[in-house]
Amino acid sequence: MEHVNQLRRLGLFDAKVPRYTSYPPATKFSNDVDGPVFLDWLRDIPPGARISLYLHVPFCRRLCWFCACRTQGVQSDTPVQAYVDTLKQEIATMGRLLPEGVEVARLHWGGGTPTLLSAAMMTDLSAHLRAAFTFTQDVEFSVEVDPNEIDSARIDALAAAGMNRASIGVQDFDPDIQQIIGRLQSYEVTRDAVEALRRAGIHSLNADILFGLPNQSQEKITDSVQMLLSLVPDRVALYGYAHVPWMAKRQAMIPTEALPTPEARLHLFETARRLFLWDQYQEIGIDHFARPEDSMAVAARTGHLRRNFQGYTDDTCEVLIGLGASAISRFPQGYAQNASSTATYQKSVRAGELATGRGHAFKGQDRLRSRLIEMLMCEFRIDNAEIRRDFDISEIELAALERKVADQFPGVTRTGTDSFEILTEGRPLARMIARGFDEYEMRAEGHSSAI
Ligand code: SF4
Repeated sequence: MEHVNQLRRLGLFDAKVPRYTSYPPATKFSNDVDGPVFLDWLRDIPPGARISLYLHVPFCRRLCWFCACRTQGVQSDTPVQAYVDTLKQEIATMGRLLPEGVEVARLHWGGGTPTLLSAAMMTDLSAHLRAAFTFTQDVEFSVEVDPNEIDSARIDALAAAGMNRASIGVQDFDPDIQQIIGRLQSYEVTRDAVEALRRAGIHSLNADILFGLPNQSQEKITDSVQMLLSLVPDRVALYGYAHVPWMAKRQAMIPTEALPTPEARLHLFETARRLFLWDQYQEIGIDHFARPEDSMAVAARTGHLRRNFQGYTDDTCEVLIGLGASAISRFPQGYAQNASSTATYQKSVRAGELATGRGHAFKGQDRLRSRLIEMLMCEFRIDNAEIRRDFDISEIELAALERKVADQFPGVTRTGTDSFEILTEGRPLARMIARGFDEYEMRAEGHSSAI
């Protein structure tokens, strides 16, 4: 109880803060970054570099009420086919613009629902990717798979295209919770999808589960986690449901009075967390768990864990190219995001232009603060020697920066000459503590609850 009181005193139950999957957060992007800037950054990629690709499919068959993703509901394949044709054009353009010898080490298809593409579209898209880019021998190709929207033809098409990791969204297995969040997905449907993926040779499996859902209780989350554990996922992301109906209009369908309090959210998280730890999963960062042999767990143990738009990753490529509407690219110089509107994106690509709509060019201390925040989110610790090796900052200046944050979070942080650390009891505050290293103004309503 004293621990909970300490977290309350430090503001955990009232704060709204970024998730820091980028720094600065995407809410700070502006239209200073446009096509010509993107092109300069693309041309600066060193020949022979290894890069990552992200391909976005902004469509779903139905729109779940809890989901804040920018995605459109579609019933026919006509708009999907038109979008795939545009993607193929963007893929060809990007392949032509990349410097010689650049290789793709990671490929991720996300959405929306990438598995609503037909098997033929998947094969076609994959052939265009293979024609435009050179892939490394050990490329990791992951796809977000909706168990309600997959069949053997599509699994075979993805396996033939080289997919070797699948991500499955679970949310919660309780039928009443599924009803209230507008997302029906039975345990049997999820289990069948997992078994079909494994039969097709896709042995690496990620799953997402949510805490903080309406009417979620300790018993319900315990049951859901145990059902998920029976599917033996290699990695699990345990995300907090972010109720932001002023940003995601669909969430207005969810009754606010059914939502757990911030304190109850903390207990739900802790309950699920303990179940994963009891089942020998390794805890990773603020909200991930992985089997000890999984590459993300290895990366966490060896100091190679990174944070990106998908949360945590063991991908260490400096450059990520985003393809598709609203997709975000990351370069050593900054971030570039394609036009969010599918129509605007398609218009630009079809006109032979780059679809870049906005972004952020790093300036001042952005890179330094981005790395400080990433270290905290990944390891709960800033290694001062590493920071001073990689950035132009004096020992005194770094110590002052850390001291200022430590003073705001007494009892849950430790500063020394070699490091700044978030103590175990302060880990639920990690996003708030990271906020201490963020020098941008922030509007609370643009972000989600700190717990
Ligand atoms: S949860 Fe998945 S299927 Fe549902 S609206 Fe969001 S992206 Fe679409």
